[in-house]
Amino acid sequence: MTETQWGRGIHDRALKEEICEIGRRVYNKGFAAANDGNISIRVGENEVLCSPTMICKGFMEPEDICAVDLDGNQIAGRRKRTSEVLLHLTIMKQRPDVRAVVHCHPPHATAFAVAGEPIPQCVLPEVEVFMGEVPLAPYETPGGQSFADTVIPFLEGTNTIILASHGTVSFGKDLVDAYWKTEILDAYCRILLLAKQLGNVNYFDEREARELLELKQKLGFDDPRFHKPDCDLCGNTSFVEGYGGQPPTQKAFAPAPSFPGYLQQASTSTAAAATTAATAAAGSSAPSEDLVSAITDQVMSALSE
Ligand SMILES: [Zn+2]
Repeated sequence: MTETQWGRGIHDRALKEEICEIGRRVYNKGFAAANDGNISIRVGENEVLCSPTMICKGFMEPEDICAVDLDGNQIAGRRKRTSEVLLHLTIMKQRPDVRAVVHCHPPHATAFAVAGEPIPQCVLPEVEVFMGEVPLAPYETPGGQSFADTVIPFLEGTNTIILASHGTVSFGKDLVDAYWKTEILDAYCRILLLAKQLGNVNYFDEREARELLELKQKLGFDDPRFHKPDCDLCGNTSFVEGYGGQPPTQKAFAPAPSFPGYLQQASTSTAAAATTAATAAAGSSAPSEDLVSAITDQVMSALSE
């Protein structure tokens, strides 16, 4: 890789400052108590910047940031690198498109991790479009390679994973992109828990769920449901192989309704309803237009961040 593709490598102060800035956001949002959590950016073919161990993520200075190679050997920095960097490196090795990783313990998402409760799908439009199914990787004692390996079966088809009885990990093309996934997930989990206190969580019907996936495709986001013919429309689950054929079952929330997958023929009643709606609205229904512009606005504001 050339220098332009990787920036200034392990000496890039701007990237170190970005790690500190995301650390402050993680800490200020309450996603990492005391010294919890860790953050990394890949800066070369074999070089990664990461947060050190035993430091509060809210108060890091660029001088605190460490550098490691892809095997986890420390190559620069006055502080010792985080032991959980192996999780970050495993993700980067399996997914060459990933340039940054955020691991922390956001309380609402971690509540699902502790309960072993799968995250329901087909509940909120933005979550369907920006995130999709969030798998739940099995528990392993944090720090070692066997802990890092728990995410491997779930890495294709998602950028956000819940770590059972531990926390979350999210990743992406840059650090802000990786961080947003954590923020969206925790906000969603908070809403789910509040709605459950009110007593009810409504799922989208088949037409609504299909429209959101059409929109997601139009906006250029990928989703396992676009590739797996037997994948149920509302998830459950694209990661059945990752779970060894035994995905976790919902206990706290009612299971999502079962609809034919996105690549399958829509149910006849849904297809008929869609035709009626399309005829009435002369080819396009108003709520979809509103949703397109609402979500486009959100994409634009995220990009300008
Ligand atoms: Zn952790």
